[in-house]
Amino acid sequence: MNSSASAEPSYSAAFIARSEEYGAHNYAPLPVVIASAEGAWMTDVEGRRFLDLLSAYSALNFGHRHPRLVDAAHRQLDRLTLTSRAFHHDLFGELCARLAELCGMERVLPMNTGVEAVETAIKVARAWGYRVKGLPEGMAKIVVAGGNFHGRTTTAISFSTDREAREDFGPYTPGFEIVPYGDLTALQAALSKHTVAVLLEPVQGEAGVRLPPEGYFRGVREATREADVLLIADEIQSGLGRTGRTFACEHEGVVPDMYLLGKALGGGIVPVSAVVSSSRILGVLRPGEHGSTFGGNPLACAVALEVVAMLRTGEFQERAAALGNRLERLLEPLAASGAVDGLRVRGLWAGLDVHPSRGSGRSVAERLMARGVLAKETHGRTLRIAPPLVIDEDDLDWGIGQLAEVLEV
Ligand SMILES: *Cc1c(COP(=O)(O)O)cnc(C)c1O
Repeated sequence: MNSSASAEPSYSAAFIARSEEYGAHNYAPLPVVIASAEGAWMTDVEGRRFLDLLSAYSALNFGHRHPRLVDAAHRQLDRLTLTSRAFHHDLFGELCARLAELCGMERVLPMNTGVEAVETAIKVARAWGYRVKGLPEGMAKIVVAGGNFHGRTTTAISFSTDREAREDFGPYTPGFEIVPYGDLTALQAALSKHTVAVLLEPVQGEAGVRLPPEGYFRGVREATREADVLLIADEIQSGLGRTGRTFACEHEGVVPDMYLLGKALGGGIVPVSAVVSSSRILGVLRPGEHGSTFGGNPLACAVALEVVAMLRTGEFQERAAALGNRLERLLEPLAASGAVDGLRVRGLWAGLDVHPSRGSGRSVAERLMARGVLAKETHGRTLRIAPPLVIDEDDLDWGIGQLAEVLEV
């Protein structure tokens, strides 16, 4: 089936050609050119409508252009957009207070992109190791898991196990030890007197919505507490409602020492990330040691404050849980038929391993696109389904119905 060619009309092709000619080729997007969007639906330059089952990797948890978020941004645009951290502005403290409260924590360090939150946490954990734990300078170790995704900086890729993400980008940052994800014994064995932190995703999103065995995260929490090691939960993709809870850690009743947030925190409007922790830990930073020109800017704070307000009522978390149950029921027949030979669902978030008899993940994504559904493969044959939490039940049913047809179920 050659759906990508037939689904690529000439008007779209002109935009794609310009991107191909002048843009770096660090992505391989589906051949669709989006011009506008609202809620769970996007419209391309041809006027064709597409159901969004990706949500910009969970950055669009509240859908495209949620009216509350767009209003908050508009109001702020008319008043104040940027001060730098050289001065105070009137929303900074309020965002920190509200976000700390949402997380049950004490302090917040806002940044912009997710990987900056990761980098910030690494620096804070190391400084905490030297200044509070008294480790010898330069010896701090951080334990991470195989299959991780923590972003694209040279340090974050230094402890990636994904060849494509790493190859030819060395030399790599030292100070990390990689253990298999979900293996508590291996993690315990890796903790040494120089370990300052364990950095984990409660659910590995990029790896294909990989869930650790039941009890793993609780075990990691106990082990890190006993060893006086910080537990850093990278909830950049899993947090803020996606799994049916505010944080994926809650599924095991775990409270980490640091939450890393990003993606949905910016409401699909601006990049906003944050490290949220205790005074004991974030308090190690002193003026001049870390910063960001745009981190915590007034526009970002206005949008993120509205995101926090929306999450405070629990309605989006409940919706994700209810729609997640529905999604699981819709996907089960696909697994039962053998068209999907691995299925993992947590909240409104699913990873499906497409059986090779049904084509590659990419070809499934292309055939879905031809039917007006946008989703994206990850790691070859895995499809990630992450609709906006505001999606209608009927639209979800329709979208998964299209997937079933593409997979010949
Ligand atoms: C997306 C992601 C990041 C990186 O976020 P960016 O905003 O792309 O820098 C880090 N960790 C996890 C778990 C992510 O999903």
